[in-house]
Parts: sequence; C-alpha cells; structure tokens
Amino acid sequence: MDLSTGQFFVLGINAAQVESQLSRINPKEFIVPDKLIEKPEFFETFRNHRAILTPQPSARFDSQNAIKRLKTLYGVNAMDAFGDFSRAELAAAGALLDYVELTQKGKVPRVAALRRPSAGDLMEIDAATRRNLELVLTISGERRGSLLSIIDQTVTGPGARLLAAYLSSPLTRPDQINARLDAVQYLLNENGLRQDLRAKLKGSGDIARSLSRLSLGRGGPRDLAAIGKGLEIADELANLLADDALLPPLLTKAKEQLGHNRSQIDRLNFALAEDLPLLARDGGFIAENFDPDLDELRGLKSHSRQLIAALQQKYREETNVSTLKIKHNNVLGYFIEISAGQADKIPIEADSTFIHRQTLANAIRFTTVELNELDSKVATAGDKAVTLELEFFELLRQEILDAGEQVATAAEALAVIDLFCSQAELSESRGWCRPIVDDSLELSITAGKHPVVEQAVVQQDEGQPETFIANDCHLNSDARMWLLTGPNMAGKSTFLRQNALIVVLAQIGSYVPATKAHIGVVDRLFSRVGAADDLAKGRSTFMVEMVETAIILNQATERSFVILDEIGRGTATFDGLSIAWATVESLLEVNHSRSLFATHYHELTALAEKQAALSCHTMKIKEWQDQIIFMHEVVDGTADRSYGIHVAKLAGLPSNTVNRANEILEKLEKGDEASTISLLANDLPLFQVQNTAPPPAKIPEHLKTLETALKAVNPDDLSPREALESLYQLRALMAEAD
Ligand code: ADP
Repeated sequence: MDLSTGQFFVLGINAAQVESQLSRINPKEFIVPDKLIEKPEFFETFRNHRAILTPQPSARFDSQNAIKRLKTLYGVNAMDAFGDFSRAELAAAGALLDYVELTQKGKVPRVAALRRPSAGDLMEIDAATRRNLELVLTISGERRGSLLSIIDQTVTGPGARLLAAYLSSPLTRPDQINARLDAVQYLLNENGLRQDLRAKLKGSGDIARSLSRLSLGRGGPRDLAAIGKGLEIADELANLLADDALLPPLLTKAKEQLGHNRSQIDRLNFALAEDLPLLARDGGFIAENFDPDLDELRGLKSHSRQLIAALQQKYREETNVSTLKIKHNNVLGYFIEISAGQADKIPIEADSTFIHRQTLANAIRFTTVELNELDSKVATAGDKAVTLELEFFELLRQEILDAGEQVATAAEALAVIDLFCSQAELSESRGWCRPIVDDSLELSITAGKHPVVEQAVVQQDEGQPETFIANDCHLNSDARMWLLTGPNMAGKSTFLRQNALIVVLAQIGSYVPATKAHIGVVDRLFSRVGAADDLAKGRSTFMVEMVETAIILNQATERSFVILDEIGRGTATFDGLSIAWATVESLLEVNHSRSLFATHYHELTALAEKQAALSCHTMKIKEWQDQIIFMHEVVDGTADRSYGIHVAKLAGLPSNTVNRANEILEKLEKGDEASTISLLANDLPLFQVQNTAPPPAKIPEHLKTLETALKAVNPDDLSPREALESLYQLRALMAEAD
C-alpha cells in the first residue's frame, strides 16, 4: 500500500520470488507474520531487509477477519467484485489494513480498490541485476546516472513516480506492451497535441497526494484547491484528446477517465477564495457569496473596523491628541494608545470615559466601554466566521472524499498521459525506434546504444555527438549465445548492459536506443556483472559471483535473457576456466536462454566448434605505435590477446613492472606453463629490478642547522655585501657540522 496515494496491491508469490519482488517494490516497511520469520527459507531475505521489517502476530493474518475488514472498507457484501483473490492474498491485505489503522491512529486513508499485478505478467529481475543495471538508482544509490534519470522527461511528480514504477516492473505480455507503444507512437506523431498536453500538465500538481492528505485528516484548503485545479486541467486534457477513431485504446481510456469531475470542479471553484491559508483554522479560504451567513459575519467584522476608525477620530478630537491610536493585540484586544508625553491630556477621574489598562516605558494604554463592546463584537464575529468556515471545510473535504474513486482515477490518467508524452518526447529528441515486441525468441538489435554511457561520452566530447559507437546484437533460439572477448576498457560491459537495458525499455513500452529492434519477450532478466565484495554479509567477491551464477543456472528459462561478465575471475586460472566452461555449456544445453558472455578465457572460444548455438565476437581494436586504440565496435571473431598489460600501462603501473610483465608474458606464451614458471622463479629477476625513481634521500642530522640557515636566506632582500657575508656564515656553519 502506498499511503500517500492510496494504491493497494496484493500478489501471491512463492518463497523464491520474495527477494526479487521486494527489490521491485522497494518498500519503506513491510510486515511479516512472526511465524514466518523463523522459517529457514526466509532467513537470508529477512536478515537483508531487517531495517524495514516489522513482525506482526500471526493471528492478525486471518483470512476470515480480513474479508470482513475489506468488505467494511469498500462497503460491499462480497469481495468477488474485486476479483478472485486467494485466502493468503486476502489475509495479507487484511493484516496490512489492520496495521495501517493501528499506525495511523484509526484513520485509514482513502484506499483504492485492491488490485493484483499478476506475477506472470511482469518481467522478473532479481535484486542483484536491478542494482547492476542501475535502473532507477545507481549502485551508489543516486538517481543521477541511473537509466530513469536519462529517460525521465515527465513534467509532473505523479508522472515521474509512475515512470519509476513502470521501469521497476517491465511487462511480459506483448499485447500489453504494444498497447503502450501505440500510445507513445500516437503522441510522437501528434507533435502539436503533445506539446499542448505537456504545457497544460505542468500546472496539474499532485491530486493523489492531496487526496491522501485530506483523507488522513492532514490536508488543508490548499489541498482542496490543488484537487480543483488538477481536475480542471484533467478536464481540459480530455477536450484536447480528440474523438479520433485512431486514438489508441490506452489514450481513449485515459480520456474517458479524465473528464467526469465537472461538478467537483465547479463546486470547489465556487467555494474557495483566491488566496488560501495553509491551515483551515486560519480561516479566510471560503470565497465571498458562497454562504450568506458567512458573508454577514464578515460584513460585521469589516463594518466594525469602520466603526473603530470613526471612534479613533472621535477620541482624537475629544482629547486633542492627534497621535492617539486604536490598536489591537491578542492579549488586550482593541485598546487606545498614546505616547507617555501626552498622558496628562487624558482625564482619568473615576467617571472618565477612559479606563487605564497598561503603562509602558513610552506609551500608555486605555480602553472605553464603547471600545470594549465593539471589541467583543468583532471577536465573536471572527470566531463565528472561522467556526463556520471549518464546517464548510469538513463538508467540502467529505464531498471530495466521496468522489475519491473518480478523482483518483482522473489523477492516474493525468500521470499516464504525462508518462506517454515523456516517452514520445524522449524518442523524438534522441531518435529512438519503436521495437517489435512479440512472443518469438528473437533478440535482435541493430545499432543499439547504451543510453547512459552514450550521454556520458557525448558530454565528454562536446560537439561530437557521434562518438558513441552503436553495436548490433542478434540472438534467437538457434543462435543463443554470443561469446565476447576483448581487452579491458574495450566496451564489453557496456555492450552487455546496453542490450539488457534495451530489453527492459522495450518491455515497459518505451522506444529504444537503436535503429531497429525485435524483442521476443523476456520472462526473466539475469546479470552477473562486476560483483563487489559483500563483506557485510561475510561473502567474498568470488562467493557473491558464484551465488549469482547459481541463481541463474537454477532459474533461467528458454525465455530468459542472461548477461554474464567475466565468470570465474576470482579464483585460480584453471578453476575459473572450468567453472566458466561448464556454465557456458549449461546455459546452452540446459537453460537454452539467450545470453551474452564476456570473458578473458580465450580457451572458451574452442566451444564454438561443437556448439552451433554459440558464436564468437570480439571488441575491435587497433594497434598503433606500440599502443592500442579501442574502437568500441563488436565484430565477429576472437581477440588474440587480452592486452591486459597495455591497459595496466595506461593505468600508470610503473614502467619497470610493465616491462617485466611483458617479459614474463613472452616466456609464458612460448614455453609450457609449468616449466616456464619454475624457470622464472629461479632466475630471480624480480629482485634485480631497480626502482627507476629512488626515494628522496634523507638529510643527515648534522646538516639540519645548515639547511635551516640556508632556508632563512632570501637572496632578493640582500645587498651584494650582505650576500657575501651570508656565504661566509654558511661556510662557517658547514665547517662546524663537519
Ligand atoms: P570493458 O567491460 O571491456 O572493460 P567498458 O564497457 O567498461 O569496457 O567500457 C569502458 C569505457 O569505454 C566506457 O566507460 C566508455 O567510456 C567507453 N565505451 C564503451 N563502449 C563504448 C562505445 N560503444 N562507444 C564509445 N565509447 C564506449
């Protein structure tokens, strides 16, 4: 449940899916029946998320009670109207409602109808893959640099939220995906319409948040106004979307949802004043002419003000004190004030009109019976007006909440339109293409780009936007795996990730950074890329890598897409190679997944001879004057070397180490490994290697005085004679030191 918008979802899943669903939803808190906490299969997950986990008594997860609660909440006799929910789902929903009521002190927010995002309809992405692909956050937890930050062209908060939600939950049904793509395409073609929609959307605010604040009793007059304004814009949007037979179904649906709130809009427009206070109790937010009683009270108040002004004039004349003032504060109410110097002009005998109230350092305050009467009249009128306004606030609040479902639907439609416009805007400005999405096992991308790296590369080379090199990727049920070799820094990881990102983009219904793309829907996306030590959990890099690989081999299906970057690097060469080899075979023969496998083990390319579904590709490089140049281009074939030493040199490894490494490599490449290693160990050249830059020599103790004296000399300040003198002094010091 999202308390801020009232959205309420339920989903039945098995134990293995808990982790990936949690990472998809990324909740602020989740509740768990305490009985479940002890179950070994959940141990790891619950430990990982203990900061946001709240155990609840298992008794609260009772389906019978839950049904009762839900029926009361929605005011229905049977839950059937909401769909076919399992007992477990109902129990979970009921327990959550219970918990919300408990924590919100009995105020359950407006809750939308319970819905189920069917598990089978969403692409599964495990937690590690989500993190690695940096979909909505980067690995370091920032939004900037994530895929979301690059694709977000929305103009409203709710639109941006919806886009983040879409990106976290790509779809798997081609019909649903294509329906979204149709909407994007329509808005892409209808440029003028799109600009009009976006211009209007900008002022539409955040209806859902205001609605939720009102329902939780935290809202104020400005929330009512925000809803009124938002609905007004929704209405205008509905009119902009023409009754066009070509309007795609999702936009037709949105249009339908936008425009049913005329009565609420008119009511709020009529009721609310121009300038609104933050809090209802400050009053003054109900417009004139809304209610005659309120107008009368307000009239009294302003009339009294005139009376007070007249009174001030009268007293000035009576006392001849032209600086006499009638003022107001919260303690005294209205009072008369004169400066201390004029005090003798006020008669203070017992029968005088003026009654003394207060003496300050330079002022004296009085009141009169007449003023007192007026004061209480004004105060009462003010109090009465505020009380009345509060009643109207409550009335309007209730009216809006009664129409809550309709209002929330309009808010959702606004977000949806913002999102589709954003997608269209993006594809236009970046020249992306509409992917073909179907049930095939194709994964064919022509001239694909990594949207985030591309942006970074373009920013580096301003004015040369063509510097990011586009690459193809062609996989299908017969050609299931590409084995990618090439040096570090050549662009292997970028290539792997870009294809995964393109799949995600296609399946959220977005255009993709390519000239052509055909994506047979992917049910699960797996990645094993650049693991880091997870020392907090007591796992080494290699262990993390193997855990992730195990998940892939156990779960990937024919429909899955797997990207693997350098499997087996964290252990000895032969161990690593063996694991990588066996993993490739498994993926090809058992899982049948489409996959990209980047590796430094060139030995693996031998597999291509017996595995028809495997083909070898490499990152093109050029050698030039003892240097290598990365072309960032994926071509058929195998890298003949890793160029690790070149990269080490680029990174600034000392030249003697680089030279020595080259020497060893040459020997290793020539001879057989075992005998070369013993030979190398015996010729001990490592110890002969001299450091090119000797460490700076330390100045001996007895020369320190000399150094100090020398530093004290400032040649620019010395006359020739003084210079000569200090030279003699220095020599004398040196003689002493010797
Ligand atoms: P590898 O995985 O082979 O070590 P990366 O994928 O990490 O290499 O890429 C290294 C760098 O090369 C990236 O940070 C990016 O700046 C640049 N790069 C990668 N791919 C491309 C490309 N297709 N076009 C231009 N620059 C690229």
